Amino acid sequence: MTRVLPFIPSSLSALSLALGLAFGGLQAQAHGTPAGDPIYNELEQEKSVYNVYKAFFPNRDVARKAAISYHAQLLESDYKGGFLIMQLEEREMRQLQRFGFRFERATEFIERRNRALTGFQIERTRRIAGQPEPASIPGYACYETVEETFAAGDALIAARPALASWVTAGSSWLKTQGQGGYDIKVLKVTNSAVPAPAGDGKPKLFINSAIHAREYTTAPLVLEFAKWLLNGYGVDADATWIVDHHEVHLMFHTNPDGRKRAETGLSWRKNVNNNFCANTNTRGVDLNRNFNFQWNSTAGQGSSGSACSLTFRGPSGGSEPETQAVQNYARSLWPDRRGPGINDAAPADTSGIHIDIHSFSQLVLWPWGATASPAPNGAALQTLGRRFAWFNGYEPTQSIGLYPTDGTSDGPSYGELGVAAYTFELGTAFFQSCSVYESTVKPGNLPALIYAAKVVRAPYITPGGPDVSALALAGEASGAGVPAGTAVGLSASASDARFSTLNGTEATQAVTAAEYTIDTPPWEPGAVPSPLLAADGSFNSATEGLAGSINTSGLAPGRHTVFVRARDASGTWGPVTAAFLNITPAVVTQVFEVENNGLPTLAQPLAVFPVQVTATMASPVRTERRDTDFYRVSLPPGQTLSATLTPNAASDYNLELLDANGVRLAGNFLGVGQVETASTTNSGSAAITVLVRISFISGGSGSVDGRYTLGLTQ
Ligand SMILES: [Zn+2]
Repeated sequence: MTRVLPFIPSSLSALSLALGLAFGGLQAQAHGTPAGDPIYNELEQEKSVYNVYKAFFPNRDVARKAAISYHAQLLESDYKGGFLIMQLEEREMRQLQRFGFRFERATEFIERRNRALTGFQIERTRRIAGQPEPASIPGYACYETVEETFAAGDALIAARPALASWVTAGSSWLKTQGQGGYDIKVLKVTNSAVPAPAGDGKPKLFINSAIHAREYTTAPLVLEFAKWLLNGYGVDADATWIVDHHEVHLMFHTNPDGRKRAETGLSWRKNVNNNFCANTNTRGVDLNRNFNFQWNSTAGQGSSGSACSLTFRGPSGGSEPETQAVQNYARSLWPDRRGPGINDAAPADTSGIHIDIHSFSQLVLWPWGATASPAPNGAALQTLGRRFAWFNGYEPTQSIGLYPTDGTSDGPSYGELGVAAYTFELGTAFFQSCSVYESTVKPGNLPALIYAAKVVRAPYITPGGPDVSALALAGEASGAGVPAGTAVGLSASASDARFSTLNGTEATQAVTAAEYTIDTPPWEPGAVPSPLLAADGSFNSATEGLAGSINTSGLAPGRHTVFVRARDASGTWGPVTAAFLNITPAVVTQVFEVENNGLPTLAQPLAVFPVQVTATMASPVRTERRDTDFYRVSLPPGQTLSATLTPNAASDYNLELLDANGVRLAGNFLGVGQVETASTTNSGSAAITVLVRISFISGGSGSVDGRYTLGLTQ
C-alpha cells in the first residue's frame, strides 16, 4: 500500500492542482471571497499547502522521538495506523528517512483539512455579512476564545475576590506596536487572608499555555484547573488547602495574537511579528525557541534561522515581548537555586513547578531538550514526570527526541533558577474534537495538574513518597457533620506505586507509616500528628489501606480539615490529601414557659448556635406567679454553653442553667438592669440537655419595658 513519493516542492504540483479542482465545488459554497478580509485569504492560502505526508515510522519509540523533535511539523498522529501526519520540507524528509521513515502524500488529511478551512471561510462570510460574532471557535464550542477566557477569569475573580486576581506580565507583539493586541495576563490564585510564610513565601506553581497558537486544548484545560481551584474552594478540601497555602499562577494565553488567528481556523503556531516573513501565513517567531537560556545553542539543529520556518528562533534570545513576559514572570516568582554550570543541581528542597502546556503527542517532558545528557536533577524530574504520566496515561520522557531543541520555555525556570519544569503535550491533534477533549484530555490531565499543585512545596522530594487517595470519613459523606466527641472512622489508600511504566520503572518501597493532623497541615509548626494504621494490620507493601479513628472531643463547631499523608520505607513522606470534618453546633430544641403569657420567640423555631433572642416578659398575673421562660438546648460533648442575659434597664430577671432533671448547674442573680452570665460544660461523651431558665423578679413587663436579650454561645 505504502509507496515512497519523490520529493515534490511544497506549494504547487500536479497533484495539488488535481486536488484543487476536486475541491473547487466546496470552495464555491463560501459565497465568494469577502473583499478586504485578510483572514479569508489566508485560509485560502493554507488550502494550497500540499507538502503534507503520512510519515510511516519504523517503530513507536522513533515515532515518539520524532513527535518531540518535529513537533512543529506534526499535524496529526495515528499510532495504530503506524504513521504521523507531518508538513515537511525536503530537508526534513531526508532527515527522517535516515531514521527509517517512509512517506506517502496525506491526501485524505488534505481533503479533510480543506473542507474544514472552507467551513471556517463560510463562517467568516456570514460574520462579515453582518451576522453575529460566533460565541466560540466555529465547530469547537468547548474551547473558549481569548476574550471568553479572560471573561471567565473576570467572573472567577468577581466571585472570589480574596482568592484570585489578574497580574499583567507583559504585552503581546501587536500591543507593543500599537496595533490592538493584548495584555499577557496571569490569574494569580491564593487566599490572600492566609499570610505567606517568611522567606520565600508560599510555594508557587506556574502554568502557561497556548504559547503555540493552534494548540486548542491547552488554555481551556488550564481554565478548567482555575475553576476547579476557585469553585472548589470551601467545597473540596484539597482545592481549599492548596488555595490557602500555595500560590497558583495561570498564564492562559501566552501568545494571544497568534491564538486569535488560530481561532479563525488557521494552523498558526508562532507569534504574529510581521518583521519576519512579512505578510505571509508563516510570519513571526516561534516563541518556544526564543528563550534566552541556551538560545541557538545546537548549531541549527534545535531551531531555525529562517524567518519563514515554523521553528524560527528570532533575531536574538528573548527578542519577543511574549517570551519576555514568561521569562520575567518566572524570575519574579522564584529565587535562583541552581549554580551556573550546566551540571549544577538545584538543592533537593527547591520549591516550585513550572508547566508549559502544549498539544499534541501525549507526552510528559522535562529538561534537558538541548542535550541527551540528563539534567542534574534528572532523576527527581523523572520521578515526578512518571507521577504525572500515571494520571494522564502519556509517555514520560526527557525532552529530547531525534534531535535537540534550544531556546525553550523551561530555560528560565529550570535552566536559570533550578525550578522543576515540565512540558505536557496534550492529546492527539491541534484542533482536537470536543468529544475527545471532554472524554479524555480533560479528565486525564486535570488530576495531573492537581497533583502538581499538591507537591509544589518540594517537587524533587515529595513525589517519591506515597500518594493518598480515596480518603473518606465515616458519617461525613453527606457533610451533615457529627457532634464533637463522636469518634469518626477514617479510611484511605496510600500507594507508592502510582507511576507510569510506559518508559522505565520507578523504584518503589513499602508504605511504612501514615498520619493525620487536624486544621494545621503537617509542615506547619504546631501540627499534632496522630498515627493511622494499616487496614490489613501491617505496613508491608507498596499500596496499603489506611484506617483510623479521629478523636473529635473539644473540636469547636464548624468545619475542620483533616490532613492525611503516608511515608515509605525510604523515609519519604508523600503529599497531603485532605477531607472536611464538620462538627455540628449546639441547638435550641424547644422554647416554652411556665406562666402562659405568650411564648418567647426565636428567629428560627429550632435555632442553631450561636443564638441571639429578643423576647419580652409578660405582666405577672399575681405577684407570686411571675413569668418564666425556658430554652431547651442540646449540648454536644466537650462543648461549653455560655448564656448572657441583658434585661430591660429598669428590670431584674434571673438567669439559670439547669440539667434535664431541673437541677441547677449555674446561675447569676444580680440586681436591676444588670447583665447576667452563666455557663456549663458537657464533660460526658454524649450530648446532654441543658435548660436555660429566665425568671421575672421585678420591674417592667410587656413588649417595651419587659424586653430582654438572651445570647447563647458555644
Ligand atoms: Zn507546542
